[in-house]
Amino acid sequence: MHFETDVKQIIERAPDVRSFRFNRPEGLDCFAGQYMIVTLKSERKELREPFTISSSPTERNYLEMTKKLTGHPFSNALASLKEGDKVSIEAPFGDFTFKGEYDKIAMLAGGIGITPLRCMIRYATDEKLDTKITLIYSNRFEDEIVFKNELEEMQKQNRNLRVVYTVTRPGEKWNGYRGHIDKEMIQKEIPDHVERVFYICGPPKMVEAMVAILKEMNVPDKQIKQEYFPGY
Ligand SMILES: Cc1cc2nc3c(=O)[nH]c(=O)nc-3n(C[C@H](O)[C@H](O)[C@H](O)COP(=O)(O)OP(=O)(O)OC[C@H]3O[C@@H](n4cnc5c(N)ncnc54)[C@H](O)[C@@H]3O)c2cc1C
Repeated sequence: MHFETDVKQIIERAPDVRSFRFNRPEGLDCFAGQYMIVTLKSERKELREPFTISSSPTERNYLEMTKKLTGHPFSNALASLKEGDKVSIEAPFGDFTFKGEYDKIAMLAGGIGITPLRCMIRYATDEKLDTKITLIYSNRFEDEIVFKNELEEMQKQNRNLRVVYTVTRPGEKWNGYRGHIDKEMIQKEIPDHVERVFYICGPPKMVEAMVAILKEMNVPDKQIKQEYFPGY
């Protein structure tokens, strides 16, 4: 379905990462994890890109997307938006979804790939679902961890949620995991991995590597769900 809406709020999340909240068009319903196609007008050209809806279906007043700004044309057009500017949206799309149907899930995120997972975690927390969730979230730098404060806050609200970070280029004070998500990390943090449904999202190479590791660890194919963002 096609909708016209406007920018309600812009939120700085991390260096070069911003959330754009649009007034939620009436009649737009979606599941946690789905995406929308956003069209912007820039110098008489139309620019169109797919983005995860990073807000949860429980957040009824707005529809949010969260973008890593890269300096490329779409990023620049987005970065120049102001509150009240018009935006066209087509939605919802995609089957990388969580509807509360699993008792135990695990999430592996790389960088901006956190967006659909944040949406699912917010959904599970707001709906007070019993689903056990472990998220392992990898970033290059500590200050690039998107939604960190909110993830911490949701861990306090939702006793079924556990969040583990790893950083590939940590500062001296970092006392969490170092390096990419690997087999040992998954074995240690998710000992019951064979029983869990995995949601993986990040750059294509990261997703590919995670799927290979899970297969090696005997996680059945039907328990592996993946989404990747080309271009990162
Ligand atoms: C289902 C789905 C969900 C997604 N969700 C998200 C999300 O939640 N958040 C997010 O940030 N992204 C998401 N993406 C990726 C997003 O759609 C864009 O592809 C991405 O953000 C690139 O936008 P951009 O502004 O960098 O580049 P664009 O201007 O759109 O250009 C596209 C690509 O062309 C190349 N390019 C363009 N101009 C140049 C140039 N001058 N020099 C070199 N290369 C160039 C780059 O590779 C660039 O990535 C998602 C993608 C998919 C398929």
